[in-house]
Amino acid sequence: MIVSEQRTHVFNDNFFYQGPMNQKEKKRHKRWTPEKSEEAMIQGIIEGSPEAVGVAVIRLNCGCRKMAAVDRDGEPASKVIMYRDRAESICDKCKEDNGAYMRVTEQFIHWMPPEPEEARKKMIEAKVLGIKTH
Ligand SMILES: [Zn+2]
Repeated sequence: MIVSEQRTHVFNDNFFYQGPMNQKEKKRHKRWTPEKSEEAMIQGIIEGSPEAVGVAVIRLNCGCRKMAAVDRDGEPASKVIMYRDRAESICDKCKEDNGAYMRVTEQFIHWMPPEPEEARKKMIEAKVLGIKTH
């Protein structure tokens, strides 16, 4: 996967910077951030998905990851990608059950800037991850 230098720079230096104004907000709402190995993957997915407003990241208890871009209506904007960090392929368990829901340890949507408004994010999260918020 090719990630341009400029993009990588933006991603690392500015992408997660929220500024001192948002510290309180940050504490109240836990904000999931991708791990280093996931960042490159997300970047690659986004580059191939112009419609995407974010990437759903699903971590499985075996260490494999499932990801897919979503558009602003909460519809898939890419194929579902499964991968395992530092491995040629996903594990046998995942090959068997395709990353079953019951083995999900963490799931979140990594939003692309400019992020959608809060109400839309909730709608997309509910649709994509089945997270009910009120
Ligand atoms: Zn697996």
